[in-house]
Amino acid sequence: MSVDTMDLLARDSGLLWHPYASLDAGARYSVSAARGSRITLEDGQGGSHEVIDGMASWWSMVHGYRNPALDAAAHAQIDRFSHVMFGGLTHEPAVELAERLVAMAPGDLQHVFLADSGSISVEVALKLALQYQDASGKPERQRFLALRGGYHGDTFAAMSICDPVDGMHAAFAPLGSRQVFLPRPPAARHTGSGDWEFDAEELERWEAEARSIAAEHAGELAGIVCEPVLQGAGGMHIYPPRVLNVLREIADRHELLLIVDEIATGFGRTGKLFAVEWAGVEPDVMCVGKALTGGYLSLAAMMCTPKVARAMGSGGGSSGSALLHGPTFMGNPLACAVACASLDLLAGPDGAGSGSAPWRAQVARLERGLRTALEPARELAGVKDVRVLGGVGVIQLHEPVRVAEVTRVAVEHGAWVRPFRDLVYVMPPYICTDDELRVLGSALTEAVGAVHGA
Ligand SMILES: *Cc1c(COP(=O)(O)O)cnc(C)c1O
Repeated sequence: MSVDTMDLLARDSGLLWHPYASLDAGARYSVSAARGSRITLEDGQGGSHEVIDGMASWWSMVHGYRNPALDAAAHAQIDRFSHVMFGGLTHEPAVELAERLVAMAPGDLQHVFLADSGSISVEVALKLALQYQDASGKPERQRFLALRGGYHGDTFAAMSICDPVDGMHAAFAPLGSRQVFLPRPPAARHTGSGDWEFDAEELERWEAEARSIAAEHAGELAGIVCEPVLQGAGGMHIYPPRVLNVLREIADRHELLLIVDEIATGFGRTGKLFAVEWAGVEPDVMCVGKALTGGYLSLAAMMCTPKVARAMGSGGGSSGSALLHGPTFMGNPLACAVACASLDLLAGPDGAGSGSAPWRAQVARLERGLRTALEPARELAGVKDVRVLGGVGVIQLHEPVRVAEVTRVAVEHGAWVRPFRDLVYVMPPYICTDDELRVLGSALTEAVGAVHGA
């Protein structure tokens, strides 16, 4: 195995790009197996490490690797058909999935567009908002209001609403970013007893500024886009739910669509089925992705209310009533079938909203386990903050993470993490056991202590 692995790592380097990396950056490990919460990493030096995947493959693998129900759903659909075009045709997996999504979504989101990745679902949401304003007689409304510190994907329009400083705007400036930004909302802490703590005056100042920026640009805005309560790739920043109520009011006052990006937060991750539920806010448009197929296949969805769909359907705009998007692999049956099985596992027999839905107990257990397991990290010299929301645990350092070293020490202690900036964070599979959460916590504490000061 070790010789093959060394060979594989060498063949990868210079051949394949990895996320946000130079071509020759390559990879440090190859994966030889994955089951439950664990992945087996080969280091190319003859070492094999079975580690707990603290990242759940970037928020997605909520039910764990090789989950029997998801494996069975994939096999069953492969034995029927793996793909068929969605233009003019439909199939049971797509209809079943859309019905499940509508049943579990917050508010009145009754219509579904199936996209092939999170970024594409954001593109579709933005197109929908522009077409909606056009159909409503306001074709001049072509910009979006977004939060600083946000992340919405890597395609061009999605990129334009990411944080304008930390995002990729600078590199692609010639292609233009024309959006309007609100300051990043103040930080909040969700305590173990369920309270939200934040600086009320800071929130008031934010609110006043948000209202004034929105009013200033209202005539040119089509919609507001945000990641509810937890900004993920833009800095693992938790903000007060009240911010969402303010954004809803602003949207209503100026006739903007409120678009919530639940691609990372959706399906229970923050302790609510969807993070907007922390504020009881009903969005006009919602994007989901990442955990939708339980991490098996790339699939996302954009959902909207009948009000939005009806306005589009009136055909008053220059583009008629059609939503102008239609990817080749739209509604891929294999992905939809696995997504149905994944949502069934989350929801349980009584439905996702019921008190006994499996996701509730799983995420509550993750939250308790992470609070206990990450607490010792707070004492480390290198650590600035430790915060937990639902199944997400974050250690923030005083300095940028030395990624390669932290990753290596964490692997030696049994955990896979992928830190960025000043953040070492985990969002483990929902099936992670209490013991596995303890291992994650001690591996992170060891790694941060060893590399950044104990
Ligand atoms: C990951 C992510 C996206 C992009 O999804 P992809 O499937 O990677 O295109 C968009 N928004 C948020 C909040 C995300 O976390």
